[in-house]
Amino acid sequence: MCQRLCIVGVGLIGGSLALALRRAGGVGEIVGCGRNAEQLALAQSLGVIDRYDTDPARAAAGADMVVLAVPVLAMEAVLGELAAGLGADTVLTDVGSTKGNVAAAAARSLGKRLGRFVPGHPIAGTERSGVQHAFPELYAGRRVILTPLEQTDPAATARVRALWEAAGAQVSEMGVAEHDAVLAATSHLPHLLAYALVDTLARMDERQAIFRYAAGGFRDFTRIASSDPQMWHDICLANREALLEVLGQFQGDLQRLEAALRAGDGEVLMEVFGRAKRARDAFVDSNGAAAPPQAAAPAAQDERE
Ligand code: NAP
Repeated sequence: MCQRLCIVGVGLIGGSLALALRRAGGVGEIVGCGRNAEQLALAQSLGVIDRYDTDPARAAAGADMVVLAVPVLAMEAVLGELAAGLGADTVLTDVGSTKGNVAAAAARSLGKRLGRFVPGHPIAGTERSGVQHAFPELYAGRRVILTPLEQTDPAATARVRALWEAAGAQVSEMGVAEHDAVLAATSHLPHLLAYALVDTLARMDERQAIFRYAAGGFRDFTRIASSDPQMWHDICLANREALLEVLGQFQGDLQRLEAALRAGDGEVLMEVFGRAKRARDAFVDSNGAAAPPQAAAPAAQDERE
C-alpha cells in the first residue's frame, strides 16, 4: 500500500496507473504534477488525482512513491526540479519507453538518491494521449518491465513491483541495454514505419482515392501512426542507436524483397511471407491468453503502447 503517491505527468499512462491503483485500493492520496494547471484540474475532476501542484518538488513532498510519466526527453529536467522534494526513503520510478537515456539522466540528477530509483516501462498503451483517455484496466494482464540499475536498492525494486502488480500487471526484469534493443525492434521500428508509410501516401497526388478506399489492413497497419508525434520524436531520438541498428537490418531485408519482386522471384516472396505468417500466428497464439477483455478498453490496445 502506497500512502501518498505523486505522479508527474498525469496523462494516459500516469492517469491510468492512478485509476488502476485507486480501484485496487492500493493507494492513499494521489498528488498530480504537470506544467498545465487546466489539465491537472481536469484530472482532479475526473477523480484521477486528489490534488495537484505544478511544482515537482512541492508535489513530491511527503510522497512515499513518485512516478515520472512525462515524455522521455523531458525526464532529466523533471528529475532536476524534483530532487529537492524527495524524502530519504522516497522510491522513484518512471514509465518511459526508453531506459538508457532515463537511467543516464537519473545518474546525473539524483546523486546518492540513485539507489531509490527503479526504471520501469509498462508494455501497454493506446495511440491516444492525455488524462481524458486514461482507464483503469489498461494494465490488466499486461507486462511491465523493470530495469533496476547496479545501484538500485532491491527493496525499492520490490516496492515498485508491488505497485504494478496492484495495478494488475505482470512484472519482469531485464537490463537497460537489452530493454532498449528489444523495444527498438518490437515497438520503435513499427512506429517509425507506420509514420513513414502514412506520410508517403498522404503526399501522393492520388491520396484522396487512396484513403477513401483504404480498408481494414491499412487501418491495422497504420493505427499507431495516430500516436502523439512529440512522444515518438522523443522515443526515436532517445533510443536512436538501437533503432538505427534494427532499421539497417530491416532496410537490407526490404531491399532483398525489392530485388525478388523486380526479378519476379515468387519463391523468395513465398518464403518470406510464409515465415512471417508462421511467426505472427505463433505470437498471436502465445499472447491471446494475456489480452484483457475488449469491452474494458475504450481504444485498441497494443502489447507495447
Ligand atoms: P501523455 O498522455 O501525453 O501524458 C504526458 C504527460 O506529461 C502530460 O500529462 C503532460 O502534462 C506531461 N508533460 C508533457 N511534456 C512535459 C514536459 N516537457 N515537462 C513536464 N511534463 C510534461 O503521454 P503518455 O502516453 O501518458 O506517455 C507518458 C510516458 O509514458 C512517456 O514517457 C512514454 O514514453 C511512456 N509510455 C507511453 C505509452 C503509450 O502507449 N502512450 C506506453 C508505455 C510508456 P502537461 O502538459 O500538463 O505538462
